[in-house]
Amino acid sequence: MEFKDVSFCYPGTDRKVLDHVNLKFRIGEKLAIVGENGSGKSTFIKLLCRLYDPTEGEILLNGINIKKYKYKEYMSVFSVVFQDFKLFALPLGQNVAASTEYDADKVQECLKLAGFDVHSDRMKKGLDTWLYKDCDADGVNISGGEEQKIALARALYQNAAFLILDEPTAALDPIAEAEVYSSFNEIVGDRTAVYISHRLSSCRFCDEIVVFDRGRIVQQGTHEELVEQTNCKYYELWSAQAKYYA
Ligand code: ADP
Repeated sequence: MEFKDVSFCYPGTDRKVLDHVNLKFRIGEKLAIVGENGSGKSTFIKLLCRLYDPTEGEILLNGINIKKYKYKEYMSVFSVVFQDFKLFALPLGQNVAASTEYDADKVQECLKLAGFDVHSDRMKKGLDTWLYKDCDADGVNISGGEEQKIALARALYQNAAFLILDEPTAALDPIAEAEVYSSFNEIVGDRTAVYISHRLSSCRFCDEIVVFDRGRIVQQGTHEELVEQTNCKYYELWSAQAKYYA
């Protein structure tokens, strides 16, 4: 996958939200993207998934401009959990499968991997338990952290080659977050994973970390390599956060 000199302005604006971005990553790699809010991380993902086209430059998959692939075929390569994902007032199993018919064992397996407890007392009807009370008075209201786990299970159920997670643990408490990270390699398996987070401690397990700053890639490397560059952005972000973990 290659971003070749990609710049991007949102429609109707002339501010470059991505500014000459060059990045290559290999299938099977686990890539983390970090940077302050507003630095262009989510926009990068939106372009990767073809929700927008670059204003300048091109994005290549296996050397071919992604615009040349059939849209539906290209989209089928990605499982994405965006920050503003939505669950539906439907039974749990249908939410994970995004379908009325599904493989219950596979749904269970994905929920388990995502750390969601289907067997809790609250999920009285298991996968047939309705979420929310809009359509079923016995439906369960779930927390933001549980919603995020279900959204992650939905992405896993699709079993696409690329798994993209945009701030996947923002709504989780620290223990649940630690659980997701400790099983991240198991969760991702041999998929290519792109992982966005503003919590740097959660990116250390990735093969490669890319640092965005004001729409540009300013650094790239492993955690160990990046923290050594003490006059650069990663170190600044890391030091700012490290005090909360001391
Ligand atoms: P990050 O994910 O790093 O927080 P984003 O990619 O969401 O950053 O945003 C980068 C910049 O693009 C921000 O300044 C944001 O305000 C702007 N932006 C994001 N979405 C839109 C949009 N739909 N229209 C115009 N500007 C946008």
